[in-house]
Amino acid sequence: MRWSFLLLIGLVACGSNDPIETESQAVAVSQSRVRISSTSVPKANRLFGAKTAPSKQSAQPFGSYAKGCLAGGERLAETGPTWQAMRLSRNRNYGHPAMIAYLKDLSAQVALQPGWAGLYIGDIAQPRGGPMTSSHASHQLGLDADIWLLAPKRLNLSRAERESLSSISVRSKNHRAINGNWTRQHMNVLKTAASDPRVDRIFITAPAKVWMCENATGNRKWLQKIRPYYGHNYHFHVRLKCPKGATGCVTQKPTVSQLSKGGDGCDKTLYSWVQPPPKVKPKKKKKVVKKKKKRGARDYVMADLPRQCQGVLSSQ
Ligand SMILES: [Zn+2]
Repeated sequence: MRWSFLLLIGLVACGSNDPIETESQAVAVSQSRVRISSTSVPKANRLFGAKTAPSKQSAQPFGSYAKGCLAGGERLAETGPTWQAMRLSRNRNYGHPAMIAYLKDLSAQVALQPGWAGLYIGDIAQPRGGPMTSSHASHQLGLDADIWLLAPKRLNLSRAERESLSSISVRSKNHRAINGNWTRQHMNVLKTAASDPRVDRIFITAPAKVWMCENATGNRKWLQKIRPYYGHNYHFHVRLKCPKGATGCVTQKPTVSQLSKGGDGCDKTLYSWVQPPPKVKPKKKKKVVKKKKKRGARDYVMADLPRQCQGVLSSQ
C-alpha cells in the first residue's frame, strides 16, 4: 500500500508521460516497477494468520494441502469428553467439519484403551486455513491434524499447562529405532486412526512404522496408510481425503496405494529410512554452487492460491 503510494507520488512528480528515451532505460523503469510491486504484495500467510475467526460461508476446502484455504471452518472445542486442544495461543484448533467429526470419533475410540484418557490434539488449521506464519507447509485446508504421542492421563489441563506441557519423543537419538516411550498402545491408536475410511494417509517417524510392520498381526491393510516422514516423533499427522462434493479440493498424488505398490509399505523404501547412510569416499572439494531458494508456503501471495481464497479472506 505504502509502496504503491510512493510509486504514484514518484510518477506524478516526474510526470508519468515522460518519454522513455532508450530501450535500456525502458527496461530499467519496468524492472523497478516490478521490484516495487513485488515487495508491496502482502504474503498470504500474514493475511490468513491475522484472521481470528472462520469465514461465514459453507464449509469448503479450496486447493491442495500445502497451497489452499478453508471456507466455513469449524472450531474444535478446547476440551471435550475425550480430548483437549493444545497450545491454544496458536489459535489453530479449526478445521473442516469432516476433520472435527473425525477427531471426536477417534478420541472416543482411543479413550477405550487402557492408559489413554483420549487425545491431546495439536495444530489443525488457522480459522480460514491458508499458509501459516510458522511451522507447517501443509495444514492449509483444515484436513490435516497433529496428534500428540503423549498418552493423556487427564483431560483437565489448564490453558497454561497446555502451553508448557511437552509431548514425548518415541524415537532413539540416532533416528534409527523407537525408544522406551513407544508402546503397543501407540500402534493400537495408529491402527484405529488409519482404519477409518475418511483418512488419506498418516505421517509418523520411520522407526515407528518399522516397529508396526514387524509387530502388527491380523489384518495389515491399514499399514498402507502409515507413511514414514521426517520429524513426527512427538506427534503423528493425520490427513483426511477430500470430503465428498468438495470439488475445489485437490486429491494428493501419488496415492498411498501407488507409493506402496498396492502393499503395506513395509518395503525397502521404508527400511532405507533407518539404515546408516552408505559409506562413500570423501570427494575432492567441489565448488559450492549456491542453489536458488525454492519458494515455499511462506512465500505465497494471494495470486498463488486458488482464486476462491480471496473470497474466503474477505468474507465476513
Ligand atoms: Zn502436521
